[in-house]
Amino acid sequence: MKKLLLGLAGLCVLLVAILAANTARLSPANTAPSVAPVAVTVDSAGAIARLAAAVKFPTVSFEEGTQPPDSAVFRALHEHLRTSFPLVHAKLTRETVAGLSLLYTWRGSDTTLAPVVLMGHIDVVPVIPGTESQWTQPPFSGAVADGYIWGRGTLDDKVSVLAVLEGAEGALRAGFQPKRTIYFAFGHDEEVGGSGARALKAELLKRGIKPPALVLDEGGAIMPGVVVGAAGTVALIGASEKGFLSLQLTVKGAGGHSSAPPPHTAIGRLATAITKLEASPFPLVLDGPTKALMERLRGGMPYIQRMALSNLWLFGPMVAKSMAAKPAGAAMLRTTTAVTIVNGGVKTNVLPIEAKATVNFRIRPGESIESVSAYVKRVIADTGVTVEPVGFKTEPSKVSDASGRGFAAVEKSVREIFAEPGLIVTPYLVTGGTDARIWSDVSSQTFRFLAAPMTADALTRAHGTNERVSLGGYITAVRFYERLLRNTDGL
Ligand SMILES: [Zn+2]
Repeated sequence: MKKLLLGLAGLCVLLVAILAANTARLSPANTAPSVAPVAVTVDSAGAIARLAAAVKFPTVSFEEGTQPPDSAVFRALHEHLRTSFPLVHAKLTRETVAGLSLLYTWRGSDTTLAPVVLMGHIDVVPVIPGTESQWTQPPFSGAVADGYIWGRGTLDDKVSVLAVLEGAEGALRAGFQPKRTIYFAFGHDEEVGGSGARALKAELLKRGIKPPALVLDEGGAIMPGVVVGAAGTVALIGASEKGFLSLQLTVKGAGGHSSAPPPHTAIGRLATAITKLEASPFPLVLDGPTKALMERLRGGMPYIQRMALSNLWLFGPMVAKSMAAKPAGAAMLRTTTAVTIVNGGVKTNVLPIEAKATVNFRIRPGESIESVSAYVKRVIADTGVTVEPVGFKTEPSKVSDASGRGFAAVEKSVREIFAEPGLIVTPYLVTGGTDARIWSDVSSQTFRFLAAPMTADALTRAHGTNERVSLGGYITAVRFYERLLRNTDGL
């Protein structure tokens, strides 16, 4: 007995030693690369004015099938870009693809090297009818007030397009000539399916380009103090994005008069199916970019949390459970289930002949449209409920390799222009969708990031009311792109 106890005590000591050793080995001092800050001079007033002017063109993508884009407005924005960035338009070639998308080619001095593709989109979502009066500044005013540029596109995504061009103009002014060819691929309909981005990709592949050394699109941001438990600022770089699937559940009923009903109408049976689905959420899985996020975040955590995050082999399930307490955390760990539409019944005293519900799933990398559909049918387990996909669907994107050189160039560029002590730069899983997914099977260095410091509040404004970007945030993004363009030489 004594031997057994001694053995157990020995094991405990060993366990504590392993936990502590892992915690020390993985401390921030050992994991964050040291990068010297670089000063980048920007014509701030000019840059702000050029983005503000770009916002004034209402390049709206209307809900699919309702109204075509106003091509004259898109062309006017193209012209604004041409006059705003004279060096870019003198030294790079610009082509129009798919009618209104733009492809810029900055030919490298060594065309045998793999190229870089910087993405963005020039369309914006409409202003929700009835909310116009709630805007502090009119949505297409491009007003500069209270330290912000206001209007549609200031976060999503004219900010990226203009910041890329500002960075390029600045680098050209300083005489920079890239070694590898750099493409700017700016789609015109990201908000309604992204046919422009697909055409841009097809065009580049047709030209026989090598798998890009880096593809960068919108997605994450620099977030000061928004990650629970992390003390400092975190730069979130999307390494993958979730898939998208809507399933329609349909139940047929016999109909008839409501005075002599069966125990369950079509609506009741549909409700049971919905209840079962909500009661059986998909499993929480801490892997891929979410695991990588946890591993990098530990640097900014107090010791106990750091110990847990340094020993996910032991504490993984506990960490996942506590993350999943908030919907945003759960979305990073599982395929989510959201019942978004329900229809059934026509009259108070008539039994419904049909009831339908649409359930939207955001699929975690590692699962698929097929596996999610099978899971749903298994959970509902009712042959009277038909389950069919409806509308847009896409598989989760491949997970990009955050230990690759493309990620390293992005990280280096962030650290050069945002020299905050304790800054954590990390991959993460984008729970929404971007055009970048179409490149993830071509380049393992496909990432999603805008180098502007943002609060959580900014994210609710992106498709909502009072979209705006801080002046300082925008200039940070411009500086980032100028550094990134230069850092492509070292890729
Ligand atoms: Zn966007």
